[in-house]
Order: sequence, then structure tokens, then C-alpha cells
Amino acid sequence: MIVVMSLGHTRAMRDAVTRKVEGAGLRCHVSEGVERTVIGVVGDSHTKESLYSSLEAMAGVESVVRILQPYKLVAREFHGGRDTTVWVGDVAIGNGGRVVVIAGPCSVETRDQLMQTARAVKLAGAKLLRGGAFKPRTSPYSFQGLEEEALKILAEARDETGLPVVTEAMDVRQMDMVMKYADMIQIGARNMQNYPLLREVGRTRHPAMLKRGPSATIEELLLAAEYIIAEGNPHVVLCERGIRTFENYTRYTLDLNAVPVLKSLTHLPVLVDPCHGTGKWKLVTPMARAAVAAGADGLMVEVHPEPDKALSDGPQQLTPENFLIMMQELDAVALAVGRRV
Ligand code: PEP
Ligand code: MN
Repeated sequence: MIVVMSLGHTRAMRDAVTRKVEGAGLRCHVSEGVERTVIGVVGDSHTKESLYSSLEAMAGVESVVRILQPYKLVAREFHGGRDTTVWVGDVAIGNGGRVVVIAGPCSVETRDQLMQTARAVKLAGAKLLRGGAFKPRTSPYSFQGLEEEALKILAEARDETGLPVVTEAMDVRQMDMVMKYADMIQIGARNMQNYPLLREVGRTRHPAMLKRGPSATIEELLLAAEYIIAEGNPHVVLCERGIRTFENYTRYTLDLNAVPVLKSLTHLPVLVDPCHGTGKWKLVTPMARAAVAAGADGLMVEVHPEPDKALSDGPQQLTPENFLIMMQELDAVALAVGRRV
């Protein structure tokens, strides 16, 4: 359940509410908005029917909302119906602001490759730089990433271009190293339900991008985000990146339904990754346009100076030239739906 405090409630009233909740063996998660303070009751409150009525009767309580969904902190109601903004450095993601484009190669391969890509995507209007250092590859014999060397190159590119850096941590043991260099931690699709990793990210205050697992439902994605926020880190951005269906023309099926569904269920920003979602570079721009039209808060796009020579995901990466064309086309779509890139 969620307790909405009334305007002008006192600190003592709020403390009385949290004591009542904690006395019932549950935890409180307080969210102080500009207009409203909302207290999320964390734990199994379904069985505490009497708590519901006592909270409703307490001074300073405007209403107590029963939540039917299994998640709370990510629920739109928890945030007073408003969108959350997640800041990565000086870049704001979400809340109807600019459509934020994250771009860069699938993997960091060489210093030259990354620097060249970083300069090109910056010039074309990307706001964040991506690049894999630890790569989750299907085959153990494929290129696994340059690890710390890649992180150092990413940090150098950030210093030169000013673009904050997003990169993946696949394991709790990689977290310290990744946090030392990256501005945003990516939890990859394969790790969406790696609960120890989610909890570890939750214990930091680093912005996190949580990608949807290829076989995960929207509810499972939201519950994975709930793990991070329940540990105390509210800076979570979701990313739809395609799910596995019977269709095998594309690498995955990009579930654009997820965008308006997520926007209605949660206050968290929603990104779309049309590269992994399709696996084909020719489909990336059309699906990027569609994602913006559907209301996505941003995109994550793979860009490589020579996709045919890429060590991972070559067929789905845009050249810098095609990335620039995509950005120009996105401008028009964004304007049509009252947004800007
Ligand atoms: C990636 O973004 O580099 C990646 C591996 O994506 P996903 O986890 O969605 O497969
Ligand atoms: Mn990739």
C-alpha cells in the first residue's frame, strides 16, 4: 500500500505513520515530492487489513492507496502520478524532457575506434556514450571485451567529449571497477533477474539502466527495477530491447507495446534499443522513429566506424553517417509528438 500524506502535515505526524508501519513488521520508503510526500509500505501489506484502516484514520494522512500490482516503488502512483527524471552527469532522462540518445559501439575494441565513434556521435547530437567493456557473449569463444582497458578508453573519451559514459557490469565482482569509470551502469538483458547484482546496484547511488530480459514480462521487468530501488537507489531507467518470439526474421521482436504500457504503469524513464531489438541495421532507424513516436524517453543505438569489421554485433550497428541521418529524422518525429531530441 501507499500512504499519501496531506499538504501541511507535520514531521511528528509522518513519524507516527512510519512507526505504525514499522510496528506492523513492514518497512517504509518515503518519497518527498515538491507538492506531496508519499510513503510506500514495503513488505507484504496484503495480509495487514487492520493496518490499512488505522493508517487511514491517522492525522496528516490524506489517503491510503491499495496497490494491486506486486510492485510499489516503481508504480506510477507512488510518485504522485508524475514522471521521474534520472540525471546522468548533467543529462536529464525522462519527465517529458528531451529525447536522450545514447550511442557508441557494441564493444570498445581499440582506442581509435572508440574515440572516432565518440566524436562522431557527439557531433550528431548523442548525449551519452556507450561501449561494452565486459561483454555477455552467447559463445565463450567470442570476443569477451577489453575489460579495464576499455573502461579507461571510455573515461578518456568522456574527458575529451564531455559525454557521460554508460557501460555494462555483468557480475557483482565487476561493480567497483565499473563504477570507478562509468557514469551509468548497464544491467544487460541476460542479467535482468540476477538478483544479487540488482541488489548491489541498489546499494550504490549510481544511475542504472536496466534492460528487459528477452523472455521477461513487463511485470518481471518492473519487479527487477523494484529490487534496485528497494535497496535505496532510485536512479533507474528501463530499456526495452526486444523479446524472443516465434518470429526469426529479426534477432528479437522489439516490443514497442512496452513503451506506452510502461509509461502508464511506472514513473521511471523508458528507453528503447532498436539495434538488439532487430539485429539488422536497416531496421534501426525506422524502429527508432517508431519508438520516439510511441513516447520513449530515449534510445540506445550502436554505432561503429566499420560495422563489417566489428568484433560483436556488426550487422546491427550504424555507421556514423547513418547515425547522423537517423538523428535528423528523429528530430521531425519528436517535434510531431511535442518533444525534442
Ligand atoms: C548491449 O547493450 O551491449 C547488450 C549486450 O545488450 P542486451 O543486454 O540487451 O543483449
Ligand atoms: Mn551489442
